[in-house]
Amino acid sequence: MKADIHPEYYDTTVKCACGNVIEVGSTRKDIRVEICSKCHPFFTGKQKLVDTAGRIERFRKKYAKFQKK
Ligand SMILES: [Zn+2]
Repeated sequence: MKADIHPEYYDTTVKCACGNVIEVGSTRKDIRVEICSKCHPFFTGKQKLVDTAGRIERFRKKYAKFQKK
C-alpha cells in the first residue's frame, strides 16, 4: 500500500527581491523570487519596464561573472 504519495503542503512565505512578501501554499518552504505582482513591469507600467529591464540586465551580467569564480 502506498501512503503519503503526495508531497507535504506548507503555508509558505515568498520573499521578493523588491521586499514584498507574499503568503502562499506550496510544497517548498521559504521561496525567494526576483519579481512579483508588485514589482513586475506588467503591473507597474510600461515606462518602468524599459528602465527596469536595463538595470536587471546589468545586474545579471555582474552576477554571472561573480558566479563563475
Ligand atoms: Zn517584487
